[in-house]
Amino acid sequence: MRHDKLDIFFHPDVLSMRTPDGLFDGAPSPLLEVQMTSVEGPDRIANIRSALERGPSADRFEWHTGWHATDDDILSFHTPGYLKSLKEADENGRWFNKSTFLPAGGLKGVRAGAGTILAALDHVLAEDGGIAYALVRPPTHHAAADMADGYCLLNGVAMAALRARAAGLARIAIVDWDVHHGNGTQDAFFDRDDVLFISMHMNHGSWSDETHPQTGEVDEIGRGAGRGYNLNLPVPFGAGDKVYDGLMTQVVLPALKAFAPDLIIVSNGQDASQFDPNGRNLLSMAGFHQLANRIADSAKELCDGRMLVVQEGGYNPAYTGLCAYATAVGFLGAPLDVPEPLAFYPENPDEVRRTISELIARHPLLDQTGQWWSTGG
Ligand SMILES: [Zn+2]
Repeated sequence: MRHDKLDIFFHPDVLSMRTPDGLFDGAPSPLLEVQMTSVEGPDRIANIRSALERGPSADRFEWHTGWHATDDDILSFHTPGYLKSLKEADENGRWFNKSTFLPAGGLKGVRAGAGTILAALDHVLAEDGGIAYALVRPPTHHAAADMADGYCLLNGVAMAALRARAAGLARIAIVDWDVHHGNGTQDAFFDRDDVLFISMHMNHGSWSDETHPQTGEVDEIGRGAGRGYNLNLPVPFGAGDKVYDGLMTQVVLPALKAFAPDLIIVSNGQDASQFDPNGRNLLSMAGFHQLANRIADSAKELCDGRMLVVQEGGYNPAYTGLCAYATAVGFLGAPLDVPEPLAFYPENPDEVRRTISELIARHPLLDQTGQWWSTGG
């Protein structure tokens, strides 16, 4: 199914903030002659933008400028105490934890990221159908209401889902294919049955008891009214195009159909790519293109094409740009029109089948065919 154009929302301020160079905590290693540039930097977004502007499908991308999230926007999800801590950190800069830094004066860029997501959402709602892609940083899906985590300072996806609910949409589905578990978004909607959260991620478990106690495991299924509405799909390290596509077709798309959302939000990270420094999965450009193509068709079928795409991770600054381009072309339903420079990973079909069937077999929310049980099993 083809979509005529893809509306892309961007704000130049998202390029303005920088994390100090170094491995993860900004500390240079005395062993290294050449220090590593912080991977969550503006380069990766600059390359996504240039790929979209220079690629053969450039004339099908329509660019719009976003805005800065206001205090009220932020408080729609985050706590007043947390917003206060962001404002204080903005004065001198602060490491919130080992991976998450706000430089002095950086809050402007963070507000631009979150506000641009909301601007893209408003466009989807006003157009009453269509896809909008918020090309932003820092990423969003690890941030909780009162906590920064994993480069994420504001959870723009959670803010957008709540804004869509406030605008009158009854059911929102969030599909997160960033290679990391979307713990902040999971936490935001764990008690709710009006927001279905589906996360496909590498099986990294919890990385911090303090900021990231969630494991992303299959038994985190939601709580109370939300029981059954949190669908984690952790995949082994090394999962590639065929595992992701198999899960998409066997589990994610049927679950979306059963849930019947009024809007789909995609947490669109490219860090499941085969060359990502922060990921251990092996998607290629073709794999991202296929995921995007399938979910855009699903949005067309289920909710008049209403879909908000939010940029999350993707930390190889070159390959992220190419994979994000392939993803965007997939959302259009158009063939991939840029060659893959490097993919060579041969996926063993038996291993792919075994990976998917083992995950389905141990999942409390899925029957043996992979069908989602909305009641929580
Ligand atoms: Zn990620």
